[in-house]
Amino acid sequence: MNTELFRQGVPDTIITQHFGRESVTQSYVYDHRSLGERLKDVDIPDKAANLFQPGTPQETVAKMVLSDLFGGSSIAMTFKKIQRESGDEAAFLYLSQNSDGFHSTPYGFCITSFAVNPCVKHLKCFDNCRHFLPSGMKEHRISLESLRADLKVMRDTAAAKPIKSIGRKNQIAHAEQLIIGIDLALAAQPSKPLFESGTDHSTPIEDLFR
Ligand code: SF4
Repeated sequence: MNTELFRQGVPDTIITQHFGRESVTQSYVYDHRSLGERLKDVDIPDKAANLFQPGTPQETVAKMVLSDLFGGSSIAMTFKKIQRESGDEAAFLYLSQNSDGFHSTPYGFCITSFAVNPCVKHLKCFDNCRHFLPSGMKEHRISLESLRADLKVMRDTAAAKPIKSIGRKNQIAHAEQLIIGIDLALAAQPSKPLFESGTDHSTPIEDLFR
């Protein structure tokens, strides 16, 4: 019912009051609209509309940034910074040139532009990456569950090694860290950023020898 009220365009304050909740944030916890449904009513300002062709990944990412759906992403934060410092025109120009990325990865969605920064983490979206957006789609859940099963085997294999084996401790810790990320991704609400303050895995790894 909560989701249906959102679909009908009922304001979040009224939904919150209707259910006797203390804050609108609680109402969004039970908002299960798809990404498309959430973005349907988001408009790109007329002055910038010619920069984003309807139905393109640019338009999707721009709407996600404008609706603050992905406020913690580097593209959203940079957009706001440019808007503050240089005004709307420069900010929308930046957005149009950097929002070509809306990708479906094996585990969910990613909004980073691979043309600007290729993913250096090789799709470890569930490993605290701030660009990761859980989709709730069956295919993505299957990939995550299958990977979790493999990681558990790897962790148990490492744990079965003699206690003083080289690398044993690191292998176990690494597998467990990834399993935690996968569990979070599986439990996440679809279309809600999971690791907004997480690492930006799209940026190049620092060269330690430079
Ligand atoms: S940048 Fe992050 S979310 Fe995007 S593909 Fe790479 S690991 Fe996944």
